[in-house]
Amino acid sequence: MLTNSLVELDRRHLVHPVSSFHGHEARGVRVLRSARGATVTDSEGRELIDGFAGLWCVNAGYGHESVIEAAATQMRDLPYATGYFDLGAEAPIRLAAELAERAPGDLDHVYFCLGGSDAVDSSIRFIRYYWHARGQPERDQFISVAQGYHGSTSAGAGLTALPVFHEGFGVPYDWQHKIPSHYAYRNPVGPDDAAIISASVAALRARAEEIGPERVAAFYVEPIQGSGGVLVPPKGWIKAMRDACTELGILFVADEVITAFGRTGPLFACEYEGIVPDLMTVAKGLTSGYVPMGAVLMSEHVYQTIAEGAGPRAVGHGFTYSAHPVSAAVALEVLKLYEGGLLDNGRRQGARLQQGLAALADHPLVGDVRGRGMLAAVELVTDKEKKTPLPAALDAATRLFDRAWEQGLILRSFAQGVLGYAPPLCCTDAEIDRIVERTRKVLDLTL
Ligand code: PLP
Repeated sequence: MLTNSLVELDRRHLVHPVSSFHGHEARGVRVLRSARGATVTDSEGRELIDGFAGLWCVNAGYGHESVIEAAATQMRDLPYATGYFDLGAEAPIRLAAELAERAPGDLDHVYFCLGGSDAVDSSIRFIRYYWHARGQPERDQFISVAQGYHGSTSAGAGLTALPVFHEGFGVPYDWQHKIPSHYAYRNPVGPDDAAIISASVAALRARAEEIGPERVAAFYVEPIQGSGGVLVPPKGWIKAMRDACTELGILFVADEVITAFGRTGPLFACEYEGIVPDLMTVAKGLTSGYVPMGAVLMSEHVYQTIAEGAGPRAVGHGFTYSAHPVSAAVALEVLKLYEGGLLDNGRRQGARLQQGLAALADHPLVGDVRGRGMLAAVELVTDKEKKTPLPAALDAATRLFDRAWEQGLILRSFAQGVLGYAPPLCCTDAEIDRIVERTRKVLDLTL
């Protein structure tokens, strides 16, 4: 009864993010009630393995008492302190220092916000300010990668390259440009790593040339493209793109909103190829979804240029909830959990997940299996030879999601017929095996 009335209230009043305004009228919202470890329970008492860690964010898993305690203690002591006017609180200061110590290279300066979208938006503003401070305000053009996702603020949605975030919204703006993705399974240059890398470098150079190299401010990449369908670049790709940006004299931004905090193995995915971006955006695993928080990490030269450009004036960017002490206290505790064993477990289980999903390649519907660590995708096709996508992939995506749900598994089902996985790093062997077994069942039911 309670559920029915909730479904009705939801229909009438709650505007869901990235959802059809009509879709939930037909099916009704699914209400989750509680969660522990990697398992969530819905309002009907059904237990499901959360193979997607909420929205690729609950990296530590649900129900850690120490995290809850850290939030409660901070709320009791000091629930809020602004960072404006050089005020502050202990937790965000300590968190900034801990992140600076662990981040690649000299990404030593941390600006905290509320999530990934505003981290990206903030980074765009800092980059514009940086080029003004360097006396090159005409560097106001930004390049990102097709099939990329960089959030859904007005500016970020235009760096995003997924049509649903553009159509009807008047983005991308004319200062936002794209180069093709490295997407190996369906790449016009073929699957060869070296060919993909040199095509991407050539595309970046050509795009910069077209725009006017002296006009380009920055290039944005995800170390692994997430919402575009978990697209893993060939080894060497990100280093080659970083080097190309250095040669072109443009800033290189790694959007690690999904990939940071153990999702692909190390704390940051940039470590995989030992690259150091000029700026990095993070969110999600930073607080493991317990409370909202995102961050922009800036390298020394970016920070110092902005500082010198502003002089004694305030750099006019910030939110009421920037550097929120409760979020920071949670993030500090989550970081302890990662380093107290969760990263190690995530690496072990990531290998198990990749191995388990790879074994699905024999299934008639599976065209491609890809991923790294606890981030993976299975791309479905109706004809392996021709790589024919599932018919009406959008509807198929909903059906696949529903079928997985019936099997007690939450995964992400992308519109292009791709199943996405990002389980919590706390998963046990048995849970990883169940994710794979249940996926096979879903595929068998879809045949
Ligand atoms: N950047 C990337 C790479 C993301 O995957 C996301 C969200 O999935 C964002 C930015 C936006 O983050 P948020 O949803 O926290 O605003």
